[in-house]
Amino acid sequence: EDEIPADHPRYQDLLTRHRIEKGVEKGITHLQGMHAEGRGSAFDYLLGEETIPSADAAERAAAAHLLLADHPVLSINGNVAALVPAEMVELADVVDADLEVNLFNRTPERLEAIADHLRGHGADEVKGLEADARIPNLDHQRAKVDEDGIYAADVVLVPLEDGDRAEALEEMGKTEIVIDLNPLSRSPRVADVPIVDNIVRAVPNTTAHARNLADASEAELEVIVEEFDRERALEAAEERIRTGL
Ligand code: ATP
Ligand code: MG
Repeated sequence: EDEIPADHPRYQDLLTRHRIEKGVEKGITHLQGMHAEGRGSAFDYLLGEETIPSADAAERAAAAHLLLADHPVLSINGNVAALVPAEMVELADVVDADLEVNLFNRTPERLEAIADHLRGHGADEVKGLEADARIPNLDHQRAKVDEDGIYAADVVLVPLEDGDRAEALEEMGKTEIVIDLNPLSRSPRVADVPIVDNIVRAVPNTTAHARNLADASEAELEVIVEEFDRERALEAAEERIRTGL
């Protein structure tokens, strides 16, 4: 990260790419994660590389959902671990959520490497290693979750999630928050709260909202949840991309 000049016009984007490269080197991120990063980077460019107002509203609604939840879980994959490990640990602390590793390309080595990485960033408990429950209607490997983690969760935050799994979690009746820069991707389209924003901005901003809402009553949080319009958020992101072009 030291080699990237801070005044470079695409500094943030280069930094993000560099973190994914490091993640691959450390065995945290699958090589396919680099392609996902490339797609995300293209959409972020079109969005102006900033948190648009509809994304900020989604992040506030996400914070309200997480604070209202009985059992919120934040899902971590290889890109999430490489890009925002400390930020995910912090959000989990602020909203009192569990962290669970959930991988598309699941190997014991990568699971362990990611859990270690998160612990190195302050996590005391990391779920996802037991894998003693299954999400219905998904193929075996990708269905694996912890019984007392994602399986039992009422609210799940699933950043950069694969479309099939996002759909299967929705079918389980969970309140689903998705972070994904592509508003046309299936995952944000099935989410209760689609956050169309770069995860490096979305997670700290969700945490900031959660801090601001720490003293809000349940009724106040419920109003925020009710007032959020998922269709409008998706449309606003598409509109912004079209204008950007
Ligand atoms: P599919 O149609 O199979 O879902 P996909 O292009 O959506 O294909 P995935 O690997 O499922 O690819 O998901 C990666 C998603 O994550 C993409 O939609 C991409 O825009 C998004 N993404 C990548 N990097 C980031 C990031 N830093 N912040 C937010 N979203 C990101
Ligand atoms: Mg997708």
